[in-house]
Amino acid sequence: MSMDGDIVLVPVQLIGRIPGLSKMGPKEENHPTVGGTCLLCQQQFAALDYTTILPLGPGGDPESRTLARNGKNYDGVGMEVHWSCATGESGSEIIIQ
Ligand SMILES: [Zn+2]
Repeated sequence: MSMDGDIVLVPVQLIGRIPGLSKMGPKEENHPTVGGTCLLCQQQFAALDYTTILPLGPGGDPESRTLARNGKNYDGVGMEVHWSCATGESGSEIIIQ
């Protein structure tokens, strides 16, 4: 699958907040996506970053499409982005002492 699709800017009415996103991290230095690019900000993923996976849909797999149409769980396509790019929240933990 190509990840070269265009990112489009859309009004807030079309975005809202995606429910159920999982905050993942902090990334360890040897995590396989460290050095990969977040398509929302064009910055590389680095150790200690927090990220999430944006669910995009069933993709091109016919079986996944059928399951999605019927409201069933399916294996689909997602895109890893920085937690802050997906939510606006800080990507780092704030430690209050
Ligand atoms: Zn980002």
